[in-house]
Amino acid sequence: MVNDHFFDFSSEEMLSRRFAGKLLLRKEIPLSDHHFKQLLLRDQFKSMPAIVKHKFSYTCQRCHNRKLSLFANIPCYRCQMTHLYCRKCIHMGRIMSCEPLYYWTGKEPSWTCFDDPCTWQGTLTKDQQKAADQLIKAIKDQKRELLIWAVTGAGKTEMLFPGISEALKNGKRICLATPRVDVVYELLPRLQQAFSHVYIQGLYAGSDDQDASAQFLVATTHQLLRFKNAFDVLIIDEMDAFPYHADPSLPFAAKRARKNVSTTIYLTATPRKAQRIRVKKNELACQFVPRRFHGFPLPVPQFKMSFHLQKYLRTYKLPPTFFQWFKQRQKRQLLIFVPTRSLADHLAKNLQPFFQKHKTFATSVHADDLDREEKITSFRKHKFTILVTTTILERGVTFPSVDVVVIDAGHDVFDTAALVQIAGRAGRSPNDPTGEVIFIHDGKTKAMKWAVHFISMMNKRGGFK
Ligand SMILES: [Zn+2]
Ligand SMILES: [Zn+2]
Repeated sequence: MVNDHFFDFSSEEMLSRRFAGKLLLRKEIPLSDHHFKQLLLRDQFKSMPAIVKHKFSYTCQRCHNRKLSLFANIPCYRCQMTHLYCRKCIHMGRIMSCEPLYYWTGKEPSWTCFDDPCTWQGTLTKDQQKAADQLIKAIKDQKRELLIWAVTGAGKTEMLFPGISEALKNGKRICLATPRVDVVYELLPRLQQAFSHVYIQGLYAGSDDQDASAQFLVATTHQLLRFKNAFDVLIIDEMDAFPYHADPSLPFAAKRARKNVSTTIYLTATPRKAQRIRVKKNELACQFVPRRFHGFPLPVPQFKMSFHLQKYLRTYKLPPTFFQWFKQRQKRQLLIFVPTRSLADHLAKNLQPFFQKHKTFATSVHADDLDREEKITSFRKHKFTILVTTTILERGVTFPSVDVVVIDAGHDVFDTAALVQIAGRAGRSPNDPTGEVIFIHDGKTKAMKWAVHFISMMNKRGGFK
């Protein structure tokens, strides 16, 4: 971890590495008042109002919030007055109308040009190599955008390595951003291993590396709100995931965080309609990766009807359909997806006696769970066999050998993308490429049918029947 006391702030290069490309409050700039004033006088820092007033509304300059309901007044202890502040981005430190945002306008940092930054020893499959070549080309030619549409389990992280290498060789600044913090936890160690001589910082709410001074960052998309004109290469993984696709301030932040001349790479297995239309109209270049890295097809979900499903779920029980299937299945680990957090907790508890009888052990994990990271790690280490979870684990996390059951697959939270991603958790390992995927439901929904259609279509494009 780089702390500020390691920085020699008397050198302009160090100042620029620390501050360039960011939008900062004064309290986020660890310089003395005297030093900071000098830099302002020399035009190395500039300021802009944090909240801009329009005739009938306001805009927060950090998160672009314009909703009146998301602004409020608060007494300011510095000015002894009441001021407007933005509630929308409050989790990143309060923005007040009396405090400007600062950005670095001094010298551009000269980032390191690495000779041979990639220390990964593996080889890419033919499909992966094709995507990697397109990525290198996009970065070399400074193409504005490229979508890599790769099925779940295609090994998309490895496909990125040659492109990232190319960028680092040319002294470019890179950010890999993803909507899900779990994905940051999973990607950061893998990237650190693949680029073992490159200092990579992880940036998410509560992370230690908050100064974001590294050449290569792995961040949640929320953290992009802190940047302006920062990155030569911005990779947005899981662009279709919540909250990125649902919160317009995040695509706004992504657009602002990249440099004017830069390349943005989008990665997903399930692009939303808007992107698919842009691809169709040739507005967005797309490289399709239809096969998993191990060469086996995607597991196709099986539907299992349960007429009185809701009656069972109301009392936090599972229907007989589940137990019938459970008794005849192979001994893989099992992910059980349920629509709500409370159902996850209650089911894990209620099912304990049954699972114990079958010499298995279950626990639950969801977004509110403080032990989330630890539980996922324990599951990975086979400390228990069954994990009852919500859509929080629908993507980004990889377990080598699991079956997957979706309980109440017709519930609204399971849209097509979620179901395709959930199904994609199974059969990830070359040693066990064929996990089972079961959708237990009390009536087929469009999303369920589309998910199966989508998966079958991918398999067809991958050359499978
Ligand atoms: Zn004030
Ligand atoms: Zn804001």
